[in-house]
Amino acid sequence: MSKINESSDITNITCPYCEGSLAVSVYCESIPCCHCSRHINVKEILSPAKKVKSIPVGTKEVFCFKCGKEIYADKNAQAVSCVYCYNRNDLSDYKVKSILGKNLQTHGTLYLKKKGTIDISSVLVGNAVIEGKINGDLTAMGTVEILKHGEVYGKITCRKLIVKKGGIFEGSVRMLNIDADD
Ligand SMILES: [Zn+2]
Ligand SMILES: [Zn+2]
Repeated sequence: MSKINESSDITNITCPYCEGSLAVSVYCESIPCCHCSRHINVKEILSPAKKVKSIPVGTKEVFCFKCGKEIYADKNAQAVSCVYCYNRNDLSDYKVKSILGKNLQTHGTLYLKKKGTIDISSVLVGNAVIEGKINGDLTAMGTVEILKHGEVYGKITCRKLIVKKGGIFEGSVRMLNIDADD
């Protein structure tokens, strides 16, 4: 039996330099052109870099807590369901004095009031403004601000950390890189 081993992993691309056509593996990232010998960035041809996206007016962009994909939500909405995994993403702000027995997950802002306490294993929020005390890990996709009287003991993950005069932070911090493309 002489069957030609056809593979869908092979695709044809056009050399951007000499416009010659060549077959490459879809897993190939770069290859010298077999016609002009110039180096072709195959990966870029097969999956072009993301275009600069424009967010529709009146919406904001969040990353689904469950699947991590980008979804758009109405600016005034309190929650949005992910179009990919149907996970309900909380968008509301929390002004709290304490959180007991549950993990908090919102794209909104957490305000921990003065003299408030959070003892929790995981807090994942859009932004956080802390005037009370947190024992535990805090992750914010945006800014964490520890105001006067605010205390955080644990690990903070955020894009921007501001500790105001009178604020206390003891623990480690990991900065999220805004420009990180994964
Ligand atoms: Zn070429
Ligand atoms: Zn999702």
